[in-house]
Amino acid sequence: MSVGTIMPTSSQDHTDAKSDQTTRNCPECGARIAGGRVGCEALFNEFRFQALSNPHVGAVHWLAFDTYCMQHIDTYCQSAKSYAAHLTRLCCGLEFGGNLDIYAAIPRWLDGTITLEKPAVLEKRGSMTFVDVWNTSSVEETIQRIHTWANHVWTAYASQHALAHEWIRLALSHKPAR
Ligand SMILES: [Zn+2]
Repeated sequence: MSVGTIMPTSSQDHTDAKSDQTTRNCPECGARIAGGRVGCEALFNEFRFQALSNPHVGAVHWLAFDTYCMQHIDTYCQSAKSYAAHLTRLCCGLEFGGNLDIYAAIPRWLDGTITLEKPAVLEKRGSMTFVDVWNTSSVEETIQRIHTWANHVWTAYASQHALAHEWIRLALSHKPAR
């Protein structure tokens, strides 16, 4: 009696999300990229790695990170506090020249027992994505594009600029409880 041929399990049917390099849209920022959401994050991690070794890139790291977060709300801005942190930091980076006092005031404010309401998540968070930033031949161009991209995303958030300004005002006037 034959035990018959043992068929391999249909491995093609089980696509490993981590190794799936099919080009598709990142569900959060909309970029067309191999691997979709995973590929988008991997690309941004390449930038973060470069930022560690190149101080010129490092100088725009926070601006890029806050911009990336405001396009990837599901990953980075689940809570009202994380949303407020990245929105106000992006505002600070662009409208206040990355003022260090404001950057420092934001986490002090958010660490306190404050009640925040997360605003409605915007459907359109800018058509330019990190894929457009990273595809350059020089570091200088990458840095320039990060500024362009950050401004582009900030413009998409125009309806929440007033909220960001109000939150920064609250952060600066916040007195930590003793
Ligand atoms: Zn993305």
